[in-house]
Amino acid sequence: MEKIPNIQLMKIVADTTVDGPGWRTSVYCAGCRHACPGCHNPETWSFTAGHSVSIDEIMEELKFAEGDITFSGGDPMYQPEGFADLARAIRKRTEKTIWCYTGFTFEVLINNPRQRALLELIDVLVDGPFIKAERDETLCFRGSRNQRLIDVPASLQAGHVVSYQYQYEKVS
Ligand code: SF4
Repeated sequence: MEKIPNIQLMKIVADTTVDGPGWRTSVYCAGCRHACPGCHNPETWSFTAGHSVSIDEIMEELKFAEGDITFSGGDPMYQPEGFADLARAIRKRTEKTIWCYTGFTFEVLINNPRQRALLELIDVLVDGPFIKAERDETLCFRGSRNQRLIDVPASLQAGHVVSYQYQYEKVS
């Protein structure tokens, strides 16, 4: 039987409102090679930062999570098999939506079979590296203007990027 890979995890943060709409639980992984100047989380760049955690252990923690789920890091797209397994477990056991932050662009991910397999399990992708010159603090859920909020199912169906239409709703 094929071994399910662990995820190299930095931390799980519950009740956050910055990584997508509503109250969410964010799964922050270790490992990123994009090395964006001005990155807020350089401590996550190392692939040996954090600790190795099984999907079952993460699901054990997520079962108490309120709201939806966000994958972030680091960059989850450097661990596509582990995060795809986690996304499948979330899909199987919950109704939660999944957002994913990545420094790769949608166009790169759809052409990489390993990363595409994870992409196909995501509801909204926030794509592209953080570019300091395009930093804009007025944007929702992203740091720089080049980054896009992408409706993944609609984009895969259309064959091109379809923006996720975010409508502000007061979180009670
Ligand atoms: S992709 Fe994200 S985590 Fe990676 S260097 Fe860029 S801003 Fe930092």
